[in-house]
Amino acid sequence: MPIGLLLSLFLDANISRTSSEKLADLRLGRDGRGAPLTARILREDPNRTPWNFGSPLATVQLRQRTIEHGWPFSGWTTLPPLELLAVPLADPSVQIDLAAPSAVAQLETLQSETGVDLTDALDVLLQTLDADRQQAWVENLTRQETRTSRAWSATLATAVATWFLLFLTSILLIRTTQVLSFFVSRWQRRRVIGKLKAGHCPFCNYDLSGVRYPKKCSECGRKIWG
Ligand SMILES: [Zn+2]
Repeated sequence: MPIGLLLSLFLDANISRTSSEKLADLRLGRDGRGAPLTARILREDPNRTPWNFGSPLATVQLRQRTIEHGWPFSGWTTLPPLELLAVPLADPSVQIDLAAPSAVAQLETLQSETGVDLTDALDVLLQTLDADRQQAWVENLTRQETRTSRAWSATLATAVATWFLLFLTSILLIRTTQVLSFFVSRWQRRRVIGKLKAGHCPFCNYDLSGVRYPKKCSECGRKIWG
């Protein structure tokens, strides 16, 4: 059982899987040339919603990544800060997490390469979310907070499961060894009998065909019937 618990702590520390969930779709654009950057929250399928901007600029997805540590049950869950993933229409191969500190440099590159200015995007998006009463998201995005939660019950469940698995495998190993050694000794016995029948010493292969019921091998001196 302590081994199971140790193993489960080891799994908690070393195995993790990440999933990502979309919380909202947004769009960025300007209503006309020189107009301020505007963001809109999409209420329906983005593929079927028309762009109602004079000059559309980027799609944005608000996403929450979840990292679960441990196997098969997760003892730890980490929720990194929310992501605001912007994909500029001018270059759909680019993806910028507007909420991340690295966004500033990426936005500068985007502006110098495509002329698209999204420098105010984070502020505009935060205002839009705030106006939509999504204060929890706004707070998370501004504070860049990582939340972790510990589930000892899951760690315990993993410990029990791994202990049970260990128990099963050890039983299986013992059984297999027993069966194998049984076959090996049977094979050895058969070989000895076979050699004797052919008139040879089973140990040194000396020819004993002249001797009837040999008790000892006259060559190596080992007992044949014992
Ligand atoms: Zn012999």
